[in-house]
Amino acid sequence: MNTSFLQSLNVPQLKAVQHPPSTPLQILAGPGSGKTKVLTSRIAYLILHHAIPPSSICAVTFTNKAANEMRERLEKLIGKARTGQVRMGTFHALCAGFLRKWSGKVLLGVGENFTVCDAEESKKIIKKLLEPHNNFLQAKNLTLTEGTVLSLISKAKAKGQSADDLLPGPPSASQPRPHLPPLAGANDIQFIVSQVYCEYERILRRNNCLDFDDLLLFGVKLFSEHPNSVAWCRHVLVDEFQDTNTMQYELMRYIAAAHRCVTVVGDPDQSIYGWRSAEIENLSKMRKDFRTTEQIFLEQNYRSTGSILSASLAIVAQDRSRIPKTLHTSHPAGPIPVLRALPEESYEAAFIALEIKRLVAGGGGLFGWGDVVVLLRFNALSRAIESALQKEGILSRVLGGHKFFERAEIKDLLAYLQIIDNPHFVPGFSRAINTPNRGIGDKTLKEILARATNLNLSPLSVVEQIYDGQIPDVKPSAKKKLKAFIEPLRTLRRLAESGASPADLIRRLLDLVKYEEYLKHKDSDWATRWENVRELINFATEVPNEDAEEDSSGDIDEDERAKDMPLRSFLQASMLSSEGDNDDNTKERVTISTCHAAKGLEWPIVIVPAVEQGIFPFYRSEDVEEERRLLYVACTRAQGLLYILYATNRRVGGETKKRGLSPFVSAVVEENKTLFNDRLSDLSAEDRTVLARVLGRPIPDEVEAQRRMAEFNRTNRSHATQFEATKTSTPAAPWASKPWNGSAQFYTPTA
Ligand code: ATP
Ligand code: MG
Repeated sequence: MNTSFLQSLNVPQLKAVQHPPSTPLQILAGPGSGKTKVLTSRIAYLILHHAIPPSSICAVTFTNKAANEMRERLEKLIGKARTGQVRMGTFHALCAGFLRKWSGKVLLGVGENFTVCDAEESKKIIKKLLEPHNNFLQAKNLTLTEGTVLSLISKAKAKGQSADDLLPGPPSASQPRPHLPPLAGANDIQFIVSQVYCEYERILRRNNCLDFDDLLLFGVKLFSEHPNSVAWCRHVLVDEFQDTNTMQYELMRYIAAAHRCVTVVGDPDQSIYGWRSAEIENLSKMRKDFRTTEQIFLEQNYRSTGSILSASLAIVAQDRSRIPKTLHTSHPAGPIPVLRALPEESYEAAFIALEIKRLVAGGGGLFGWGDVVVLLRFNALSRAIESALQKEGILSRVLGGHKFFERAEIKDLLAYLQIIDNPHFVPGFSRAINTPNRGIGDKTLKEILARATNLNLSPLSVVEQIYDGQIPDVKPSAKKKLKAFIEPLRTLRRLAESGASPADLIRRLLDLVKYEEYLKHKDSDWATRWENVRELINFATEVPNEDAEEDSSGDIDEDERAKDMPLRSFLQASMLSSEGDNDDNTKERVTISTCHAAKGLEWPIVIVPAVEQGIFPFYRSEDVEEERRLLYVACTRAQGLLYILYATNRRVGGETKKRGLSPFVSAVVEENKTLFNDRLSDLSAEDRTVLARVLGRPIPDEVEAQRRMAEFNRTNRSHATQFEATKTSTPAAPWASKPWNGSAQFYTPTA
């Protein structure tokens, strides 16, 4: 038995790993203190020392990415074969697996060949169910989209509430009422939601379908009513326990029922999923349900340098309701986190790109591109940064999502503009014709495309012919559907030809096809998508019209005029923004991620842009403290270097707005000016040594490091003059002790 991995643990970590399996355990600790490490080591120890079969251990993580990470760590300890037998995954994945296995054998109300129904499907069902209520809602001037209803049903399911529990009435102790938006006629809405919920359930069952929430609910049903389905389980371990909701907690309780051996790890300071019904109270609930539960606290952080930890702790400590905790670092202080104001978002983006280059050079081989992450409050912020990185030739990837110009809502809008510019463009046509959904079927689309090919026309011309009555025997209903497509396009084309700006075209397009409404109906996450749409307008206002100057050269024919439309410059710029990045996925890339998706992960260099009022806390968020914890989660991903940036002006939806530093950070710097630094200096030999130690990497060769830094400075000198101009036009950060010092600062967008 090889348990040499125990040697890499500190005393409380070892205690946690060797804690008697039969005594329930909560490991509570701050970021980077080795919770996930302890969890994997404990699994290994249960198998190697206590001889518990791997297949009787259940390890639950929060995301598939975290499950993969845990699998990799465990493989290093006990090998691939045994790791493969451990039942590891998210709550949803585990439930789906067990339901598949058991639904044919026991009576659960769902057949063994059930289908998992995704949110899109659910919304289609709910939309139909809402139809009979539409007149009533309209008469009362109430809005209720299928997205909202699904999210209310989902919240209810997460709490284990039935349709009846959603009915209005005084809340009872046993059945707390769900949170509903404070709308006029909230009672009416509650009645309707409750009724739709009830019918929605009936339809799912009739179709032998389970939605995502059902996976958990039916999991609980299976495990509670048929304890033999979980009799195999001798130990349950849950990572990121602070973010579990009521249903997930119940699942854990039932899976653990036979042997009552449970280990959970978590950090209340990192609870960031309240908006998805996570219940921080689950920690105390567990102590009541498992009376003998013991707690172990880990107080040493192995991830970050001292100065990153101090700055991060100062941010979260501003939450006065928080229970103070001890967390000290095993590493030296290292470089002080940078806090920096930039005049606008384009400068911020260019700063990020150049700073990454400078660090990779200045590290002298210590860092690669893959060591950097840019963490965003929401993904629309990625556009300017992706483009700045691309300009500097830095490859990037978006963690758990799409790059800006690959996002569905961006492609939808571009599709319209593309076919205005080029009516022959089939992919754009096929996308736009049924977005928003106009009920135009695949068959109709195929016929249009075939006719276009046969007659050598653009598909758009074929639609025009149908609409104008040039093609006989077209049903009036089909014509009506096409009308909803062709009329907005005609309006837009007229506007484009009269030289309307791309930003105005997009705004008009949004109006004409009611795009915001469409998003609201389509997606409970519509707000994020809407931010992307606003960012596309920003982008449109930034693109210079390359043909504009040559415009006044006398008579021009139709074709020529079309070419000179500012629209074309815009489309070309958006295409170029996404090209040339598909090559070679093996090369190291800078990661761009939302703060949420970065949970549990770590990077040597972390850059958090847009730490501004209105963004941190996000203006739509209801829970300020959760927003503060989110910034804390972001900062504590950093191992060696941390950057907090903000722009004093930011363009939102095409308009420039004044911005200030987030109150989460300004409150910190008001109290203590030494936690952040607004000046940059080249990495020193000492910095490189400290960072190498923190990252567990060899100390880079000093001569080589200086050579690379000198070369970087030489090749980027052209930025120096431009930087001088920015420096005078940017107010010094209000909190800074001294105005900016120009040395080693030459970061402006390249021309
Ligand atoms: P988070 O709250 O962000 O999920 P965590 O508490 O789960 O963090 P881990 O990811 O397990 O922390 O560990 C953070 C880093 O510290 C990892 O790189 C891990 O390998 C390292 N680490 C943890 N404990 C030790 C130790 N005793 N000795 C050396 N390195 C350690
Ligand atoms: Mg962890």
